[in-house]
Amino acid sequence: MDCIFCKIINKEIPSYKIYEDDTVYAFLDLNQEHCGHTLIVPKEHFQDIDDIPNDKLMYIFDIARKLKKELTEKLNCEGIALTQNNGFIQEVKHFHLHLLPYYKNNVQMTIEEVYDKLK
Ligand code: 5GP
Ligand code: ZN
Repeated sequence: MDCIFCKIINKEIPSYKIYEDDTVYAFLDLNQEHCGHTLIVPKEHFQDIDDIPNDKLMYIFDIARKLKKELTEKLNCEGIALTQNNGFIQEVKHFHLHLLPYYKNNVQMTIEEVYDKLK
């Protein structure tokens, strides 16, 4: 299967990894319009919200809670949105949860600068 996120999980293409365990992989989104924009993906390939089993979904949200705390502490963001796209607005057809940090003031960092603060 030609899935870019499966390739990232299998380390066939590089990523800025934030967290990994047996079930999930979390990495920085290439588009850092929101500094610290992170994606959490299940290691197993599921397409979307209709495809993923409840236990995996709950586990991803559990990790999202932990990473929200870490992003808040290390990047000093003041709000974090969780987003998950389905259908034609979903660009990559491997289930993923977006963590989107928000800042009251304008914050601009390169992906390397964000990664340095998080690792
Ligand atoms: P979607 O619209 O499917 O919910 O979001 C897909 C996200 O994946 C987008 O925010 C996009 O910037 C990100 N993305 C696409 N290709 C890559 C990639 O190769 N590496 C990383 N780190 N992010 C990617
Ligand atoms: Zn995949």
